[in-house]
Amino acid sequence: MKEAVLIVEDEDKIARLLEMELSYEGYEVARASTGREGLALGLSGTWSVILLDIMLPELSGTEVLRRFRQTDEVTPVILLTARDAVPDKVSGLDSGANDYITKPFEIEEVLARIRACIRNRRIGEPAGQTDAQEEFPEISIGDLTIVPLMRKVTRGRDSIELTPKEYELLVYLMENRNQVLTREQIISKVWGYDFVGDTNVIDVYIRYLRKKVDYPYTRKLIHTHRGVGYSIRETEE
Ligand code: CA
Repeated sequence: MKEAVLIVEDEDKIARLLEMELSYEGYEVARASTGREGLALGLSGTWSVILLDIMLPELSGTEVLRRFRQTDEVTPVILLTARDAVPDKVSGLDSGANDYITKPFEIEEVLARIRACIRNRRIGEPAGQTDAQEEFPEISIGDLTIVPLMRKVTRGRDSIELTPKEYELLVYLMENRNQVLTREQIISKVWGYDFVGDTNVIDVYIRYLRKKVDYPYTRKLIHTHRGVGYSIRETEE
């Protein structure tokens, strides 16, 4: 089944660019150019992701989002905001946006955010409803395995219990196994692009994760790259 993206954007040039790129990437795309039309389309269809501009005629994006969330709390919404529009971001957060993209944007960034929204949604979905099994097979490194569909983590024969944040962090490391991930990458993917706060939170969670995933075992999988970040990989020793 194709993933469907709704673009709510009154600037024709931007909307057309998004439509073209997303269609090219294999998404089903629909467009609305006013807030009212966007809200109606948003509520009447099933969307993988909604891209919602904030400055819209008739109804602002923030208002569209507020009304949309009264009915639909699940569909991911990514707001398109003007550069440095901090008040927009704050009120958008309050009304339930999943992410933000600041204009002018790189199309690659938009695509990455859309993929992240779809991935996060899938992780939270119950089993048996999608083709997720096919797209999200087990991820393993050494004797550590994640079964994303069941949110199951095992090492050898041991089943490992993780909190949701620990799990997300581990999934991100595992999806990018054998690569060094910078603290900035980890923060933006696991805590969200607009995370404001101390990046030491990563070290804290890596410690939690190690305690469960590495400390009890001889072979360590999570590695620190001083001054850079972390990786998960199997070493020779
Ligand atoms: Ca606009």
